[in-house]
Amino acid sequence: MGIAALAKPEREKVIALVGNPNSGKTSIFNDLTGARQHVGNWPGVTVEKKEGKLGYQGQTFNIVDLPGTYSLGAYSEDELIARNFILFDKPEAVINVVDASNLERNLYLTIQLLEMGANVVVALNMVDEARARNIEINIPRLAQALRVPVVPTVATRGEGIKELVATVAKQIQESTCRPLKVNYGREIENELDKLEQIIKQDAKLAMRYPARWLAIKLLEDDERLEAELQKEGSRPVLEAVAKSKKQLHEILGEEVEAIIADRRYGFINGLVKEAVIRHQTLEQRLTISDKIDSVVTNRYLGLPIFLLAMWAVFQFTFKLGDPMIGLVESAFESLKGLAAGWLEALGAPQLLTSFIADGIIGGLGSVLVFIPPIFLLFLAISLLEDSGYMARAAYIMDRLMHALGLHGKSFVPLLIGFGCNVPGIMATRTLESRQDRLITILINPLMSCTARLPVYVLFTGAFFTANQGWVIFSLYLLGIVLAIIMGKIFKTFLFKGETAPFVMELPPYRVPTLKGTLIHMWERGSSFVRKAGTVIVGVVVLIWVLSNLPLGVAYASQESLIGRLGTILAPVFKPAGFGTWEAAVALVFGILAKEVVVGTLGVLYGVEENGLTAAIAHSWTPLSAYAFMVMTLIYIPCAATIAAIRRETNFWGWTAFAIGYSLVLGWVMAVLVFQAGRLLGLG
Ligand code: GDP
Ligand code: MG
Repeated sequence: MGIAALAKPEREKVIALVGNPNSGKTSIFNDLTGARQHVGNWPGVTVEKKEGKLGYQGQTFNIVDLPGTYSLGAYSEDELIARNFILFDKPEAVINVVDASNLERNLYLTIQLLEMGANVVVALNMVDEARARNIEINIPRLAQALRVPVVPTVATRGEGIKELVATVAKQIQESTCRPLKVNYGREIENELDKLEQIIKQDAKLAMRYPARWLAIKLLEDDERLEAELQKEGSRPVLEAVAKSKKQLHEILGEEVEAIIADRRYGFINGLVKEAVIRHQTLEQRLTISDKIDSVVTNRYLGLPIFLLAMWAVFQFTFKLGDPMIGLVESAFESLKGLAAGWLEALGAPQLLTSFIADGIIGGLGSVLVFIPPIFLLFLAISLLEDSGYMARAAYIMDRLMHALGLHGKSFVPLLIGFGCNVPGIMATRTLESRQDRLITILINPLMSCTARLPVYVLFTGAFFTANQGWVIFSLYLLGIVLAIIMGKIFKTFLFKGETAPFVMELPPYRVPTLKGTLIHMWERGSSFVRKAGTVIVGVVVLIWVLSNLPLGVAYASQESLIGRLGTILAPVFKPAGFGTWEAAVALVFGILAKEVVVGTLGVLYGVEENGLTAAIAHSWTPLSAYAFMVMTLIYIPCAATIAAIRRETNFWGWTAFAIGYSLVLGWVMAVLVFQAGRLLGLG
């Protein structure tokens, strides 16, 4: 080693974790990094990026958990992130986590990694599961065929992790990776050779990509790469690819893409036949998972069982969460009192005291009361997910959701939205497809959450006592119908041409581990607490300021800035039948949390909530009341939901879009309801 090399601090070695979803990647990541983790986002996208440190014999490795994928094409954001990271960040080693009990499917990804020339070590995980199912794997034979080290592991028990680390460290030092060559058949191989030569003449391309890999991808119609080559003006390569494809199509009579995939599967099949021995008796062929599935995904029983499971989740979340909400509420009340008393004792001005006590502490409290139900809900969801049931739920709902242009997995987040939109939006993380995820996030606020209920109860209590239940039900239904329509519209106009093929697969059932479930719950819940704070505090402070300025006005009176804002806004709502400044102010406050609408009306009409029904009955009509409920349902999501949308889309643009479209839609619907009602003589 030269002196220059000694003087220069070495870059920290990077080890990337790659594997199918549910292969045990997160478990291995946790085994490797322990508590030394950092969670962020990949630049510019919604996908979570997890990093952690691993110390080994005086060296520190940086472990990066790549998104779980089945392939390294360009179909989904996850695939692209994983692929680009390997191509351009050039990690020193890649740990490919492979589910030993599901070798065939997992090896498809392994092959692609090897074709990219990644420095792979295979962590053959879940060997306990494989053993339990009488699958015996000849590990040396597998390693020999793949030409990379294969280390058996049981991530949940930390077995094999030491060996894995030692093997990876050795692999990094020796770095003797020889890209694996799947034989694609004489015709395709001929064309690949030609293309490789042409690619190598393009210095820029050859620097960026392994030539053979690029040639294969281009024959596979990889749109991303095609677009990039088009942009870079790599004409000769593109022309050669087009020619090769045409020629191969003529000779082989099939799309090249399909043949390449067939060849890969063929390679894997052969490999598995060689390296895997299955001891199976007739009874064992029907595994326990199959037996459970024959009941749970049964044509008639599937749906009732699913609804029962969801009902149980809701009971668990809200029955158990309610008393805890009360606890958080009273905790914040006492905190408010304490802070106020303390500040007064210090002689702080009244305005500052109110700002800190009512504004910041009160505002934060109104949002943090969501914590107990959110954590409980995520606990329940993590349990369902880790056990494998969630995949079945998606499977059962898939057909129905397809009619809406969505994936079966979108159903669960929407359902959760009826409880609270915040966890509903966060539950979209289970969706693989970026566009499905965005659509599900955008329409989630149309699911009428429990916070809207007090508003409905107040207004229906004043005007619709005879059929209160049906009127409230009609609002829930309106939300669902609008969600379907908007979902279709977004799919058609916002995500034109994006396709995301996705296999509906049913992993075997597993007994979830306590540690895994708690980690999953914590990962989801804590990110809400971390990120929601900033947005919410901003909104709270703004509204507090508007209610108290100019100096000396009564809180939120007609003379305050917010009162004046209400007066300015009121005419906008005239066509919807509720063009008073009180209604406008209530809607502005409702952005904090929808149930605040009721309290605000109470303050503005100068009555307690008990007298409010009478006050409403006096100055509203049934029609304007219904239009107002429609508005409350649809317009602008609450601050916590806005924060969740920002956090989950990782983009203010989508957040602004969600606010904008719901505001316009709410206004249009309220006006439609009011005007149509008047035409029908209901005014
Ligand atoms: P990821 O989605 O790929 O990150 O996979 P996870 O680490 O979340 O694991 C998925 C499920 O498999 C969890 O319920 C884990 O507890 C379980 N699991 C992970 N590794 C093993 C293993 O080696 N053996 C068994 N039996 N279960 C495992
Ligand atoms: Mg994971």
